[in-house]
Amino acid sequence: MNDNKNDGNEKILYESPQSTDEGKQELYLYSKNKISDINAAENYNNLTGLPTLKMFFYLAGEMVKENPDDKFALIVMDITQFKAVNEFCGRSEGDRLLKHIADCFREYSKTREKTCVSHMRADNFCLFTAYSTEQEVADIAVDIKRQIQELPFAYKVLPSFGICASTEKQPAVSYLKDCATMAMNTIKGKFYADYKFFDSKMRTQLMKERQVENSIVAALEKGELVPYIQPKVNMLTGRIIGGEALVRWLHPEKGIINPGEFIPVLEKNGFVINVDEAVWEQVYQYLSSLLKAKRDAVPISINISRIHVYDKNLCDTFFNLKNKYEVPASYTPLELTESAFLTDEEGMYYRMKLLKAQGFVVSMDDFGTGYSTMNMLKTQPVDEVKIDRGFIIDIEDDKSKIILEYTIKMLQALNMKMIVEGVENETQRDFLISCGCLNAQGFMFYKPMPISEFDELLRKQEENGRSF
Ligand code: C2E
Ligand code: MG
Ligand code: MG
Repeated sequence: MNDNKNDGNEKILYESPQSTDEGKQELYLYSKNKISDINAAENYNNLTGLPTLKMFFYLAGEMVKENPDDKFALIVMDITQFKAVNEFCGRSEGDRLLKHIADCFREYSKTREKTCVSHMRADNFCLFTAYSTEQEVADIAVDIKRQIQELPFAYKVLPSFGICASTEKQPAVSYLKDCATMAMNTIKGKFYADYKFFDSKMRTQLMKERQVENSIVAALEKGELVPYIQPKVNMLTGRIIGGEALVRWLHPEKGIINPGEFIPVLEKNGFVINVDEAVWEQVYQYLSSLLKAKRDAVPISINISRIHVYDKNLCDTFFNLKNKYEVPASYTPLELTESAFLTDEEGMYYRMKLLKAQGFVVSMDDFGTGYSTMNMLKTQPVDEVKIDRGFIIDIEDDKSKIILEYTIKMLQALNMKMIVEGVENETQRDFLISCGCLNAQGFMFYKPMPISEFDELLRKQEENGRSF
């Protein structure tokens, strides 16, 4: 009989056989082994043999129950750019590194009292321990980092640690993990920082995030998430040449909430996809009403979250909307923030190509805020560039002027359409016009407004014809 590696923790129950019949006995043994295999796979990481997150929660929870008077701390760890380790050094070297890290954690679970550890996934590990001083917990993180970096390895390995040291007795382990992760994310990739403790500022932020997460589903159902539209103008003529749909949460108690307060939270849990789709649907409804009424419709661009980079249904969603509302693809340019092109270059490249082939216009949002901007202009399927507000904010400065002027020249030479975001004053407007960049979006012209107000503006423009 196969040893049950995991007897003490087996969660799936089975009954002993009532019959002595040999066939049944064999079947029983087979099922028992199968179940223990499944349990082992669920509870222990295949590569490193450390408990999985599920098992870790169980072990840590038991530890809290058995030691109700102790204070506990949780450390999480992540390797910056682990993907690059695999790419540069090969998968087997990546595995060797993970095994070494697992050994460092395992050692603590063996030598330190009331301590358990986990290999949560990929390059994420964590440790849960009873503690008396914060320094003592910090020392564990520093020691693990030292041990990891002592491994002879062809790549500079950069671990980041987040720590949540609970002052409450009997804390909820999963909450500590969320807090430690939040702390870790504040220093990820910063080579000079070893670890970060979860603090009260982060606690307030986390509570805000929880509130958003808890109320977003109901808000969607009640139709509280609506697109506002910010007109885009030709600065020479003043004509509205299009608009951008920008989501607003019309909260019954808190009033109008801007996307900066909830989109980043929803990007973490994937709910941004539902919000985006709700917004897109409303934009399509509006465009369809304009076209059906034979009004002078203008393109209204929509924002695509970087999370959609991983959404395999993205193209189908747009093809369906386009067909359902009978709105030609060119009426909804797709704004995708510059850095999203980098996240999953191949998948994104493929999807954008497909959408372009169907007539969609792809616009690179926040141009100039990312890292490899220039190269992406060469490689990515982009029709339009939205120059970020950062380029014009200090336009009085001579160097800023030169950078902007030559950026515009380069885009013109590449035959790329462009628009500038965040034009707020005449100095900015006049300089842009002198450089030959005529299209803009900014508070100097219009702020984002409800669809009904935008519609009113379009109507006036239709009535006044070109003299608007
Ligand atoms: P974005 O796509 O770059 O949108 C432009 C932002 O700049 C908007 O902020 C707009 O109100 C603001 N803005 C425009 N002109 C000016 C100006 O002259 N001065 C200043 N200071 N700001 C100006 P908003 O509406 O708060 O949106 C912020 C970001 O949230 C957007 O940046 C976009 O990335 C995201 N977002 C907005 N709506 C959606 C949505 O429906 N889905 C997704 N995924 N993201 C959205
Ligand atoms: Mg945008
Ligand atoms: Mg932008």
